[in-house]
Order: sequence, then structure tokens, then C-alpha cells
Amino acid sequence: MEITFSRLDDTVARFQLRASSPSFANAFRRAMIGEVPTLAIEDVRVYDNTSALFDEMLTHRLGLIPITTDLKCYVRKESCSCEGEGCAGCTATFTMSVEGPCIVFSRDLIPQDPSAKPAMENIPIVKLTKDQKLVIEARAVLSTGRHHAKWQPTNACGYKNYPVISISEMCDGCGHCVEECPRNILEVEGKRVRVIEGRTEECSLCRLCERACLGSGIGEESAIKVTSDESKFIFVVESDGSLPVKEIIEQALVYIRDRSDDLIEKIGEISEGT
Ligand code: SF4
Ligand code: SF4
Ligand SMILES: [Zn+2]
Repeated sequence: MEITFSRLDDTVARFQLRASSPSFANAFRRAMIGEVPTLAIEDVRVYDNTSALFDEMLTHRLGLIPITTDLKCYVRKESCSCEGEGCAGCTATFTMSVEGPCIVFSRDLIPQDPSAKPAMENIPIVKLTKDQKLVIEARAVLSTGRHHAKWQPTNACGYKNYPVISISEMCDGCGHCVEECPRNILEVEGKRVRVIEGRTEECSLCRLCERACLGSGIGEESAIKVTSDESKFIFVVESDGSLPVKEIIEQALVYIRDRSDDLIEKIGEISEGT
């Protein structure tokens, strides 16, 4: 298995996964979405809320704010030495005290630990009119997207099979497929059509080019054929800001490796017992 990045910054990664299989690609996608832990607000103590929102709606909105997460500093509550009581090792605490008129933004959540803060400052939470108040204390804990979407570290995480575009000798360069392609991948050169250099990955596998070719009266078989490579995938992963995208990828791979090791161990135990 090989991974080659064509883009990698803190929030977005685009990469090719090669020498793999559809089942691994899907397991990898699911691990990035549902098995990488992040912090999210889970408990809210509302001291004063005279805004137009019910406490429940307000706390739901707070839960969805991505919180920057340093996985070296926090452990899950259930495996913490405090035995679930809540301490600085498993819980990040925030306070908020705002009086209207104003819009309450995520930046109004004041973190106790500066490394665990709202990933974006300008997420609107609620609008307060004159004399309306909001005074709360919130606690964020580590968990995964498998338990609730608020712990998903990704905004977007998907892949497609790598496109394979072949053009046969029957092509006469009529250009119908070039006009039809919505991604501008094809061009006519001389008497033949070809893929513009470096554009193959942009193909959406829509196969409109094949339909256009058949519609041009070429016969029963299209001169252009679009298929996909079942062992090669193009991934796009976008972080919600809680973790750098590189860490999401690494943590997902560690998760898959650990689960595979567990499985091998269990199979070993069963084989020894028979
Ligand atoms: S499959 Fe769609 S995107 Fe790909 S080359 Fe054909 S028309 Fe263009
Ligand atoms: S429509 Fe068919 S024949 Fe015409 S340029 Fe495209 S592949 Fe060639
Ligand atoms: Zn603890």
C-alpha cells in the first residue's frame, strides 16, 4: 500500500492510495470519520439564559463547535485516573458570560486550557437583544464520531476510484466527447482525442463522453472508454479544525493497525485452543 499526497496543509489533504482494495479504502474512510477521538462539549451548566433559545437548543449548538484537541494532553474519561469524575486530564472547561445586545460567537467561550479552544472564533451561537444574558460553564470530553457526529474530526472525507480513460483506434477526432465533458479533461489533437496532461484525476467517471461518442454515429461501440482502477483511490479529507488533517490520517491508520493486531491475537488464541 502506498500513499502519495498532492495537497497537504492543516485543513485539507488530497492523496492517492495505491496497491489497495475497495474494502480497505472504505475502512480507512470510516476510521477517519468515526474512530479518531476529538474534544467536544458534552456537559453544560446554564446559570443564566434569557436568550430566545431553549437551554437544550443552546447546548446542542455548543456541542457542535469544533474544539482544538491535543491528543497528548487528554485521555478518555472512562480510562482516566479520576474514574470518570472529570479532571484536567480528561475534561476541558470553558466559561461564558455575555450580555446583549450582541451576537454571541464561539470566541466568547473562554477556555481554561488555551490549547483546547474553539477551532474557529466566528461561529455564531445566538443573538441577544438588550438586557438578555447568557452565563454558562461547559465541559468538553474526548470521544469519537461513532458515538455522536459532534466528535467527528472531518467536515468532508471521501474517495473515488482512480479513472482509467482509454481511446481506441476508431476515434476520428470529431470532438463530440470534448464538448460533452463537464470537467474539461479531453482535447482533440490532430485526428484523435486525448486526455489533457495532468487532468485524469479530475474525471468524475460520469461517462458522458462515451454517450456522446455513441451519439456521434460511430457505431455500436464507443471509441472512448472510461473505467476505474479497483486498486487505486483518490481521497479528499477536510478537517473541522479540531485536529490537523495529517493527524486524522495517522490516527485512523493506527486505529486500523491496532484493530488488526487484536484480530490476529484473537485468531491465534482460537487456533491454540483447538
Ligand atoms: S467520464 Fe465524464 S468527466 Fe470523465 S472524461 Fe468522460 S465526460 Fe469527462
Ligand atoms: S466522440 Fe468518439 S470519435 Fe469523436 S473525438 Fe470523442 S472518442 Fe473520438
Ligand atoms: Zn479525569
